[in-house]
Amino acid sequence: MAYRIVADGIGGPDVLKREEIEVGAPGAGQVLLRHTAVGLNYLDTYFRSGLYPWPPNAEPVAGGEAVGIVEAVGEGVSGFAEGDRVGYTLPIGAYTSHRIVPADRMMHIPDGVSDEVAACSILKGLTAHYLITRTFPVKPEHTVLFQAAAGGVGLIAGQWLKHIGATAIGTAGGAEKCALAAANGYGHVIDYRAKDFVAEVNEITNGEKCHVVFDGVGKDTYPGSLDCLRRLGMFVTFGNASGAIEDFSLKDIASRGGLFATRPSLFNYIVTRDELEEGASALFGLIEDGTIKVAVNQTYPLSDVAEAHRALEARETTGSTVLIP
Ligand code: NDP
Repeated sequence: MAYRIVADGIGGPDVLKREEIEVGAPGAGQVLLRHTAVGLNYLDTYFRSGLYPWPPNAEPVAGGEAVGIVEAVGEGVSGFAEGDRVGYTLPIGAYTSHRIVPADRMMHIPDGVSDEVAACSILKGLTAHYLITRTFPVKPEHTVLFQAAAGGVGLIAGQWLKHIGATAIGTAGGAEKCALAAANGYGHVIDYRAKDFVAEVNEITNGEKCHVVFDGVGKDTYPGSLDCLRRLGMFVTFGNASGAIEDFSLKDIASRGGLFATRPSLFNYIVTRDELEEGASALFGLIEDGTIKVAVNQTYPLSDVAEAHRALEARETTGSTVLIP
């Protein structure tokens, strides 16, 4: 029986409820997928908790990335056929066993990449890609700070930064997470629950500080992240794992040496088909040749997604989490 997980109101993980659905036929330009693996993202918790509003007229179904098998194609679809193994990222809607999706958002999954790895790396890996190669094109001579380095995006980013040859400093909570980050590309790792990360970055860089800070933690690491930047440095605040930054002021970046700041979203970077394909090709190329290993460290049945949300928000997870329909 086909089913989905809906948010029955705004609140904690308990609002997530399983309900059975009828599967329709794909319309023009659409494909029907049977999902085999769905990725869990911190983003999913923002919609559930009310930090982000559901888009107008959207069903309250979270889930930002998935992989599946094409079961039917609608009129006018080219490049995809019944039986193909494909994946996609869209902001919401993936917590479901079957789904009708626009064909122009699909990508073929290479043979060397498993469903579980692909489902955990499309949203997270394309995010690492755009942050590091487009928001701030990192070069070998750059010193980079990446907050929450042992998380889903963080572990992929560390390996990508090492591949580029940059000096990568990561932060993580606790010794175990720090060791994991160090094994995934970060040359220096700071336990920011035990130490003052601003002082540590200052020491590691001999007072020179960083060219760029990528911060998906938000409230708790702000404004410390700004204090880790050298003059004209770039503050990339891309998430709110600890809550949203509410008191940002242009004075904060002016007084620290004419900093730049941006609040990017993946979905502004993969608007065109070319952008999507360029990111996917770079990402899957590095996964297939072994440069990037995606750590799928937690697996849950999709029906138990509430428990997966609880663990993610309690900072109990490392790397990526996959949900199996
Ligand atoms: P993670 O696996 O990185 O999980 C979040 C991590 O944040 C936790 O494991 C924890 O690591 C750290 N953290 C710090 N403070 C808190 C807190 N108070 N509560 C919970 N966690 C905390 O998640 P994702 O890889 O899915 O996402 C990472 C970030 O990237 C998120 O903020 C997400 O929203 C953002 N993102 C943004 C995108 C964009 O385009 N803007 C796209 C994709 C993700 P530790 O225990 O080490 O502190």
